[in-house]
Amino acid sequence: MKALKNKIKKKKWNAPQAKRKLYKLHSEFVLLRDRRTCQWCGKNGLNPITGKPFKFDCSHLLPREILITAFDPMNGQTLCFSCHKVAHFRSWHQNPLAAAKWIRNKIGDEVCDRLLTLGETPYEFTEAEAIRIESDLKQKISALQKQREDENRGCSSQPGSKASSLPRQEQAT
Ligand SMILES: [Zn+2]
Repeated sequence: MKALKNKIKKKKWNAPQAKRKLYKLHSEFVLLRDRRTCQWCGKNGLNPITGKPFKFDCSHLLPREILITAFDPMNGQTLCFSCHKVAHFRSWHQNPLAAAKWIRNKIGDEVCDRLLTLGETPYEFTEAEAIRIESDLKQKISALQKQREDENRGCSSQPGSKASSLPRQEQAT
């Protein structure tokens, strides 16, 4: 613990760098939780044209610049690139009212309201906060990874179970 403290003291804290790291971890968690499946259109697996896995984004419900909610698991949804930004009139960003309705159905009014209230709360992104968020996200990721491994093991002994429909690229990436 002492060694860790000394290490922190020596290096000047770099907030933008810390944010980048947390955005990445948060996105990793959200994509893993959503099984790399677009929550808007259900797309997953491999792109039949390129043969490569589809590209997915972690889309933020409240803008990611609002740091108090930026790394909240409930503030992220997995979307394919097309649904996120491209598809005319039906993409997330081009049809905010449809997106708002969909979000309320998806995560519920209570969570929506919690995020909205939090988003208006004054907040200071400090080094201690960054450390707390990082450790929380890492714990959540490893718990989910373990859960998925267990599911995969269960899947081989129980053909036809729900786990057998896991997108294939999940382990490859
Ligand atoms: Zn999609």
